Amino acid sequence: MTALSALERRVVAEIARRERDLVDLLRTLVRFDTRVPDDDLAPRDEAALQEHLARRLRAAGLTVEVWEPDAAALADTRYPIPPGHHFRGRPQLLARAQGAGGGRSLLFNGHIDVITDAPRELWASDPFDPVIAAGRLVGRGACDMKGGVAAMVFATEVLRALEVGLCGDLLVNTVTDEESTGAGSLASVVHGARADGAIIPEPTSLSAWLGTRGSLLVTIAVEGRAGHAGYPHDERSPDAPVNAIEKLALVLEALVGLRAQWAVAPELRHPHLEPGRIVPVATAGGQWAVSYPAAATLSCHVQYLPQQADGDGWGTTVKREIEAHVLAATRSDPWLARHPPRLRWDGDVPPSYHAPDEPVCATTLAAAQALGIAPHITSRTTWFDGPTFSRSGTPALAFGPGDIRAAHTIGESIALDELVRGAQVLAVAAMRFCGVVGD
Ligand SMILES: [Zn+2]
Repeated sequence: MTALSALERRVVAEIARRERDLVDLLRTLVRFDTRVPDDDLAPRDEAALQEHLARRLRAAGLTVEVWEPDAAALADTRYPIPPGHHFRGRPQLLARAQGAGGGRSLLFNGHIDVITDAPRELWASDPFDPVIAAGRLVGRGACDMKGGVAAMVFATEVLRALEVGLCGDLLVNTVTDEESTGAGSLASVVHGARADGAIIPEPTSLSAWLGTRGSLLVTIAVEGRAGHAGYPHDERSPDAPVNAIEKLALVLEALVGLRAQWAVAPELRHPHLEPGRIVPVATAGGQWAVSYPAAATLSCHVQYLPQQADGDGWGTTVKREIEAHVLAATRSDPWLARHPPRLRWDGDVPPSYHAPDEPVCATTLAAAQALGIAPHITSRTTWFDGPTFSRSGTPALAFGPGDIRAAHTIGESIALDELVRGAQVLAVAAMRFCGVVGD
């Protein structure tokens, strides 16, 4: 299991020999400006990038579809996709190398959108004109995750160029809208992107992310009573002011308390994921410098573990728990008992997790080990597109080149030797997962 076969050694050597071609592909991908769109959803270079990949993958003998999904087909999801969302000018790509038959199918998925380059003036070089320095390629998206996209596309091309006959189908899926909502992969699943396993080469430093927590957003509104700031707060009197911000502090205290409970609850331990967490991310309140605030709100980002999800894998039980906890904790306050906090939930992206012995996880870890990379599982602290595939029957893990700590930074970069090793692991994993004709 650990040693490379003769054919695997040929593939690995070919990827190393063609390192410049791989780096050129990454450089080309970074040059396309695929920053997440502004509120007007005006497209940038997304279509041009997808067309570039489509041409290459067709040249490698894959059948390729590039399409603009109908956002209305995603309307029944709980993902935080805003009303009026569309994909005009931001197409998705799904390519397939037909296998000879009798093997498992594997899907490579990567997002082509990158976050803003702001503040642009802090970059030492043009974020969209990559430079190579000290063995690293520097540019927006080099690490998250055009490096991974280049590695998976190049691994596919090399397998095709060497005429490695895979038994199962190999699919390549490049999507937009990951950094914002996850809508691109969701649309790809609706379109039919499914396989027996999926590898998403996010920047994991060549370790495995076997899953991720789900996320919820909640905004909690508390009422006060407006009045002149020169008067005392008095909630027993029918017309004296009541400070909504001070009442909101009780809600905050309740949420911090629940977070502390989650952190130590034995049933909320997870072997490879951090505990669920409630993080206050925004507050608003007040009307005037000399008035009591009549209302105040607190928004929180909530991350929850797979074992906190409901029977369908969503966060409804977490929502109920938070709601009940906030109401119970604030009921002893007479004002809040009469004016209970109101919770508004926006969006739910689900968690997922696969054990290390899930075939696509085990195969990927074994492929890494065969290349001399110690199998390592790291706990993921933010979301990625894995659950979108896992929920639709395609077990997915993340494994790719690049260090997540370089993602979203000024001067984002990726180590070129790691890029090469990432492509090598992906190629070997594909051979082992899909099976090779004649083996
Ligand atoms: Zn990413």
